[in-house]
Amino acid sequence: MMKFVLKNVKNGYRAGVISELGNQPDKTVDTPFCMLYTRGGSAPHLSRDVLNRLKNLPLVAHMPLNILADHHEAVRKFQHGIGKFAAMEDRVVYCSLHDPSTLVKSGYNDKHGVSVWGKGGKLKLDTELFMKIQESFQPDIYQALSDGDTDINSTRKRCIKVVDRTLSFLDSILDIHNKSERLKKTAIFGSIVGGYNEAERVRCVKETVSRPVQGFVIEGFFNPGPDTEHFQINECVNLLQKIIEILPVDKPRLMQSIWPPDAVIQAYELGIDIFDSSYPYVVTERSSALVFTYIIPTEETEGEELPETYEINLTDKKYFADFSPLLKDCKCYTCENYTRSYVNHLLNTKELLASILLMIHNFHHYFEFFESLRRSISDGKLEDLKKLINKPKKLPSVER
Ligand SMILES: [Zn+2]
Repeated sequence: MMKFVLKNVKNGYRAGVISELGNQPDKTVDTPFCMLYTRGGSAPHLSRDVLNRLKNLPLVAHMPLNILADHHEAVRKFQHGIGKFAAMEDRVVYCSLHDPSTLVKSGYNDKHGVSVWGKGGKLKLDTELFMKIQESFQPDIYQALSDGDTDINSTRKRCIKVVDRTLSFLDSILDIHNKSERLKKTAIFGSIVGGYNEAERVRCVKETVSRPVQGFVIEGFFNPGPDTEHFQINECVNLLQKIIEILPVDKPRLMQSIWPPDAVIQAYELGIDIFDSSYPYVVTERSSALVFTYIIPTEETEGEELPETYEINLTDKKYFADFSPLLKDCKCYTCENYTRSYVNHLLNTKELLASILLMIHNFHHYFEFFESLRRSISDGKLEDLKKLINKPKKLPSVER
């Protein structure tokens, strides 16, 4: 069964190793890390061999349930689980309830189940259907069914309701899980919900911790969807701190939709271990390339100018004749072979290759950022990384 061991790191930072993962018992993952975002079982825009050329590719493939759920009968017939079905058998599969980049509409959950939004529209999951899908998918880790439909405006009554429901779902799930042959090697992450109500959050943590779960997903501060990019952790920082204080230190905590690098570092410092990588996809979809700096300057590079924004938008006409790479010194395939001008041309002529090239760069950039985050933690240089990251914030203005 999945194991999580904290490492001894300078300055008291939190870093750990996850091991003995379901179908990949010989592999380990260092925390903090981001998972490899997938849609419908594959990385967006990238074929398998293009994907496998990326450096620092996360071992954990993140497969949101909402998009895959429609195919669960086919996966059941296949018998070998969603990892093999999606040709990702060399990765650890984590199955979340929602897709962080797809809007989850509010008001569609009740005591019988939770609605997820896939390609075919709304799908209502009760615990029985949810567990049938998990038994077909046989992921290495899955998030327990939960009602995270709360935000800063939710009433106390609503917060009580979501905690009641989520705990009752968890008990039904554990019942089925513990009897299941197919899920013997699979770990469950319990969902911590309760909106902005401290008493309900504390109740949810205490009850969830007392049940046999191997990790925790913290949600219910906002509805997942593209707008979560603008969510400020400061809105919930005290409550999040309180939640993490009473969670056991020796189990990993996951939070989806914590996207820009400053938010990632802030959440990490509060005690979050696992993040998602749908942000590079969202950035790609708006024709942009990530350009924030994560390389701590050496004496040689000290004083070099930092970019003013986290990303640049390649549809801007100023890139029409810009023959530099998307990002100077970037070692990704796109930057080593193509120019801003070429990507600008591909975008103007609506060529699909534009999304492929941007996705390669944005994934590469985000994965390297997490590598840099882990390195700065083990070298005791997190403060230096923060100084770099916390400078540029705004989205670029675009001239077409
Ligand atoms: Zn690049």
